[in-house]
Amino acid sequence: MNHSPWIEDLPNRQPYSTTTTQADVVVVGGGISGICTAYSVLSTTALSVMVMDSNRIASGATGHNAGHVVAEFERTHKSILAEFGEIKTFNTYHMLANAWSLLKIMCARHTKLVVTKSYSGYIQSSVVLEDLEYLYSLRQRNISCKSVFLFPNHEYLSWIPERYRRFCKVVSNRTFDSLIHNSNIRYTAILKKKRGLMNSALFTENIAAFLLKKYSNRFFISEHDSVQKVSVGEDVATIYANSGEKRASYVVLCTNGYTLPELECDTDKTLQVANPNTITPVAGYMVGYEYGKRRASQPIIGIHNLKLNIDDTNLRTHSLDFSFLYLSERFRHSHALLVAGGLESASSTKDSTEVLALHANRAYAALDHIVKSTMDYQFLPPAPTYGWYGLMGYTQNMVRIVGKEPLCTRLIYNIGCNGNGILPAVASGDRIAGILRGRELEPTVFDVGQ
Ligand SMILES: Cc1cc2nc3c(=O)[nH]c(=O)nc-3n(C[C@H](O)[C@H](O)[C@H](O)COP(=O)(O)OP(=O)(O)OC[C@H]3O[C@@H](n4cnc5c(N)ncnc54)[C@H](O)[C@@H]3O)c2cc1C
Repeated sequence: MNHSPWIEDLPNRQPYSTTTTQADVVVVGGGISGICTAYSVLSTTALSVMVMDSNRIASGATGHNAGHVVAEFERTHKSILAEFGEIKTFNTYHMLANAWSLLKIMCARHTKLVVTKSYSGYIQSSVVLEDLEYLYSLRQRNISCKSVFLFPNHEYLSWIPERYRRFCKVVSNRTFDSLIHNSNIRYTAILKKKRGLMNSALFTENIAAFLLKKYSNRFFISEHDSVQKVSVGEDVATIYANSGEKRASYVVLCTNGYTLPELECDTDKTLQVANPNTITPVAGYMVGYEYGKRRASQPIIGIHNLKLNIDDTNLRTHSLDFSFLYLSERFRHSHALLVAGGLESASSTKDSTEVLALHANRAYAALDHIVKSTMDYQFLPPAPTYGWYGLMGYTQNMVRIVGKEPLCTRLIYNIGCNGNGILPAVASGDRIAGILRGRELEPTVFDVGQ
């Protein structure tokens, strides 16, 4: 079963197609990265854009995620800082903070969607000091983060250095337990921070519909149109797809990265990112419980650093610097929907649908067991209402790649979208529009070839 509630919410429509054979910019891949790239290019330049997708737009990871909007990496601040240095790291945080504003504008003006805002991210406190240091450094650089740690009693505060205490607040044990739906004493603190929830597939679909209407003379979408090869010459790129050949001045790859068309450039050197091993697919599994009771006055998100005993060698929790199970609760069609994820299996593009589905059934059972045995949820149905999975494209350092191919500057990457890809997709679409406008851009951790 791969039954995503986000895909279920998409309108039933005929596939988009076009007879156009050339555009200034061809975007390969119509997930959130591709459509946000199209949005930023169309709204800030006079260039024409064609998005091509081998399936339906938003049907990839964009339609199969957890929908948490977070300005975070799946690595600690400390390790990002150590690898990329201060300038690139804080430029990137600024870029993600700006993406929050852009996302808000896109939602409010062009879709009927709201990003359900919640400042309640709940996390076990084993990393409290490191996170406090991170918050402190953000605030020193005027980067909006709106975060605070909640502690159930005063004792814990004694080990927190004075300069961090203004980010900490004491709440009653009862409030603390009710916020994380868990009275497990291992949780010594809760991080309350800026987060959001959204259906990124519906967002992508609505933005695409808006762009087709507003820029009808220079925006085109071709669905069910797989791109097999991109050949980039000095002045023009040729795109070989199911529907035939297309021409473009620039090609932006937004395929998530674990699949890339064959790339050919008039250089005798190997392209920096073209190696198929640069980005590997990882399958992420999710379950969703729909239940009738509205049990919280506002949606919440929980991220719990649970120690999970998984008796299945095919499954793992995500880890580089840490591992976690993520939970969110939102209201959808007047029901509460609890979503849990965090189990993964290393995949390969050769994985058949059956293999992924086999892992999926085990993953759903394991997630169901974890949710029911560790959380204080009393209203859940006996089995999850939804179970779904999607593929994430992981670079080796878990940081996406955004920018021009150094050896072939008509080829632009926006790939390696990993597990925290929603806000970075908005941010990198905007960055690619900046590149096409010829703007001098501040260096970030996403830059190609570092
Ligand atoms: C289980 C799971 C949970 C996640 N949870 C979160 C979360 O809570 N928060 C968050 O921020 N992120 C999350 N993510 C990650 C996020 O969903 C992705 O980073 C994001 O959706 C990537 O968008 P994309 O447009 O780059 O890729 P995709 O949505 O995968 O789109 C790529 C598109 O390219 C097309 N394509 C590929 N090759 C070709 C080709 N040769 N020709 C034409 N088209 C092609 C595909 O059909 C696809 O539609 C999660 C992902 C998964 C799988």
